Amino acid sequence: MRLVVFDDYRVGVLGPDGVRDVTSVVPGWDPTPPQTFMNPLIAKWDELRGELEATAAKATPRALDSVRLRPPLPAPMNVYAAPANYHAHIAEMRTDPNAPVNSTRELGFFLKAPASISGPSDPIELPDRPGRRFDHEGELTFIIGKPTRGVSRDRAMEYVWGYTCALDITMRAGGGHNEERSMRKSFETFTPIGPALVTADEVGDYHDVHVQLWVNGELRQDSYPRDLIVDIPELIEITSNTVTMQPGDIFLTGSPPGVGPIKPGDEVVVEMDRVGKLVIPVKAREW
Ligand code: MN
Repeated sequence: MRLVVFDDYRVGVLGPDGVRDVTSVVPGWDPTPPQTFMNPLIAKWDELRGELEATAAKATPRALDSVRLRPPLPAPMNVYAAPANYHAHIAEMRTDPNAPVNSTRELGFFLKAPASISGPSDPIELPDRPGRRFDHEGELTFIIGKPTRGVSRDRAMEYVWGYTCALDITMRAGGGHNEERSMRKSFETFTPIGPALVTADEVGDYHDVHVQLWVNGELRQDSYPRDLIVDIPELIEITSNTVTMQPGDIFLTGSPPGVGPIKPGDEVVVEMDRVGKLVIPVKAREW
């Protein structure tokens, strides 16, 4: 099943004929901030799925291009991310060939502010920071379905509820600046996600999900998650032995090679087999 959030933060099931409103089934739905309503829906998924399907079947579909898509998960409790999880990406970012290699294996996870999340209809807004470089990172992202504590890798995939596409937009350190990674990646709109949340059964084996990203039509990233240094089960093992992961928490699995700069006026497209496609314009922040 594919879930979207649309218009005034209503919840819909996305099918071939459009969006079907299932908001009435969402426990505690409230469109006012902090908009945490998707998290209990995911937590109670096994119990609510049948009712969602029945409600969707009776609803009148609305054409996808007639709604405004919002972030399909507006307020996860935690946004985890893998810092350097493809060998080829580490190689392209290295400036000192003699420095030790720090991958996700050595570094573990970092956090992005959930407030940096934006949706499929929102532009990336670059803040005015003269001389700084802003990069795109297109990353397969998974969603946790139940409280996940101390889980070993052999059981970890049982805790994956689904997947979505994400961009991990990054202001690079440099030019005498060396802010914390979490801040450089947490400007508002620096975590576009969507267009839908896709349940794990629709995606199947994540290893062969083709991850591609274009800027202004030029293919920049073209990889498969089978090349992850730390795979999804081990990301869950590492993280769930640090904290209890919660239903609706998301995890950006790390950027493939091909990372490059973006500037106002660009258009970023990221597409992942069976997961979805985001088309996101880049503009200068106006505030
Ligand atoms: Mn990243």
